[in-house]
Amino acid sequence: MKILKTQVGIIGAGPAGLTLALLLRRQGIEAIILENRSREYVQARVRAGLLEQNTVDIYKSLGVADRLLREGQEHRGVYLSFDGQRIRVPFGELTGGRNITIYGQQEVVKDLTDEWIAGGGQIYFETPASKIEDFETDSPKIHFEYEGEAGILNCDFVAACDGFHGIGRRTLPPDTYKEFTVTYPFSWLGILAHVAPSTDELIYAYHERGFALHSLRSDKISRLYIQVDNDDLIDNWSDERIWEELAIRLGTEGWSLKTGPIFEKSITPMRSFFTDNMQSGRLFLAGDAAHIVPPTGGKGLNLAVADVKHLADGLAEYYQKNSIKALDNYSTIALKRIWRAQDFSNFMTTLFHKQDEHGSFTYQLQKAKFDYIKVSEAYATTIAENYVGLPFEVFE
Ligand SMILES: Cc1cc2nc3c(=O)[nH]c(=O)nc-3n(C[C@H](O)[C@H](O)[C@H](O)COP(=O)(O)OP(=O)(O)OC[C@H]3O[C@@H](n4cnc5c(N)ncnc54)[C@H](O)[C@@H]3O)c2cc1C
Repeated sequence: MKILKTQVGIIGAGPAGLTLALLLRRQGIEAIILENRSREYVQARVRAGLLEQNTVDIYKSLGVADRLLREGQEHRGVYLSFDGQRIRVPFGELTGGRNITIYGQQEVVKDLTDEWIAGGGQIYFETPASKIEDFETDSPKIHFEYEGEAGILNCDFVAACDGFHGIGRRTLPPDTYKEFTVTYPFSWLGILAHVAPSTDELIYAYHERGFALHSLRSDKISRLYIQVDNDDLIDNWSDERIWEELAIRLGTEGWSLKTGPIFEKSITPMRSFFTDNMQSGRLFLAGDAAHIVPPTGGKGLNLAVADVKHLADGLAEYYQKNSIKALDNYSTIALKRIWRAQDFSNFMTTLFHKQDEHGSFTYQLQKAKFDYIKVSEAYATTIAENYVGLPFEVFE
């Protein structure tokens, strides 16, 4: 049997687990990461791409933002489109200079993994954690499997950064939390295409045929989405049909959509999920292990990073001041931001998706909101400050 020992046992090498490991290292706290998948698999997984100002600032402070700042694209605004009419919400001027950066999650994961390993950090790939034990005592254990051999990681604390399907949430005692799930009555068909973006900033569009989003990845790769029914199938969508639909839904006078070879196509359901407690004893959940938001607000990765910032602060206080106060308060403080993100993601989702017949009461409410953004700086500011992410002080 393989026996390991550290201060913080981290399950999962996604953005939450890796960021936590590096934040802990900066405080002189030891950690070991166990990751179910191979390094190649984790680093190729295309997911998020929108980094809030807080996230970029944390990566700068950790010294892992060189490539992000070089290759990422800072966006100072977003285009919102309704029935073919397009407006722009400028971020920087409404939020005192806060912006977003477009940089693929897989690149973030690569940068963080490289940094962790270069600094001598221990990480075990293809090592599934199977059970978390004794987390109500001072000596929790994580059981795992490594190269066909059973193992135990003895630690002071367990950070379950193991995503939506991990074991962390399932290990929380059922009487310590409530779960909330909302499944939206539509999904996103997303594509990645080898074509230069037809826009310099993201475009969110309501159209009577449904929602569309033009996002970006680089100068040569575009990421686009359209709203489809939950029971729709990818086989129903030829590349030609996808481009036609995108051109219609995103269309506005004097603008045209560039098309190119599609190299990734998938349908993702839209849902919100979260637990109202993220800890028990010495077990702490962070990131998708505890919550999922619909991708409309670009919040998933950023919430994961915000969670582990609070968790790392709490652990630092424990090791440096022998105080458990900040750790006890972890769920309470993280949930304030999570609720805010749930609300904003829901707002963006319901504002731009087709929910009912064109012209219906719901449609008129959506249109009234859009018309208000056009005339009210206060309303536009609300959108901008949520989009770029509220500063940490707001929730502390
Ligand atoms: C299609 C798509 C688009 C998205 N777009 C955006 C976006 O634009 N902006 C945004 O902010 N967010 C977006 N998200 C959400 C974002 O990708 C997630 O919120 C983010 O990955 C959460 O990070 P995490 O570290 O909590 O979880 P994950 O990235 O899921 O990492 C968890 C890790 O734990 C590992 N693991 C699981 N179980 C075990 C086990 N038993 N033992 C060991 N390891 C285990 C997994 O292999 C995984 O590597 C998107 C998600 C999807 C699916």
